[in-house]
Amino acid sequence: MKILSWISSSIKEIKRKKHEKREKKRKEKNLLNEAERKKVQDDFQKLIIFAEDISNQANIKSRQYIDNENTTCPHCGTKTIIVDKIRNVTGSGKVSGSFSFGTGSISGSSSTKTEAVNHCNTCGDEWKKTKSEYTDKWKIIVKWIWHIAMYVEEKYSFGLDSITLLQQKLFYAETIYSVFDDASGVQALERENINKERLSLSQLREFFPSVYDSQVSSQP
Ligand SMILES: [Zn+2]
Repeated sequence: MKILSWISSSIKEIKRKKHEKREKKRKEKNLLNEAERKKVQDDFQKLIIFAEDISNQANIKSRQYIDNENTTCPHCGTKTIIVDKIRNVTGSGKVSGSFSFGTGSISGSSSTKTEAVNHCNTCGDEWKKTKSEYTDKWKIIVKWIWHIAMYVEEKYSFGLDSITLLQQKLFYAETIYSVFDDASGVQALERENINKERLSLSQLREFFPSVYDSQVSSQP
């Protein structure tokens, strides 16, 4: 009986080791099963919503800043309704002269162009409009991934801030990696020259939990 029980436990041990080996390979090759795929998909939606929230907040702040820049006269400090005027504007943002479009002499500089500028009705000062620079969820996500890549490449330590932020939200490494498989994500990443060669899944797993380790693995 003792021998039989020994054989039985040995077989169990062999099976367990085989299963472990298979699971390790599955993780290496990122071959998700149905349950894991669902987890990553749900997590990916969470990532998108999180990025959307952050970009909305950033845009509100940016809007407030721009409104303030465009409605406060830099010369006399008056906060007033500013009148748009068409003026020649040089590349540096200086408003050249006080002539209106069409009546003054056009400067030879190729960097001079006409555009609407802010005009203060109190002191007459004119200054270039501060343009809106809005962000969106993909720009935010790409910034995160760029930060991670830069941190991994040991170029910028500030990348750690983005890593910490995403760690706090408990995103899976596979979720972040799946941005590389999303059509909009890939397009946004390409603009920053980031692809799978630049950042691998195993590198992401050094910072983020893996969905493969997030469950009691099913026994064979
Ligand atoms: Zn003024």
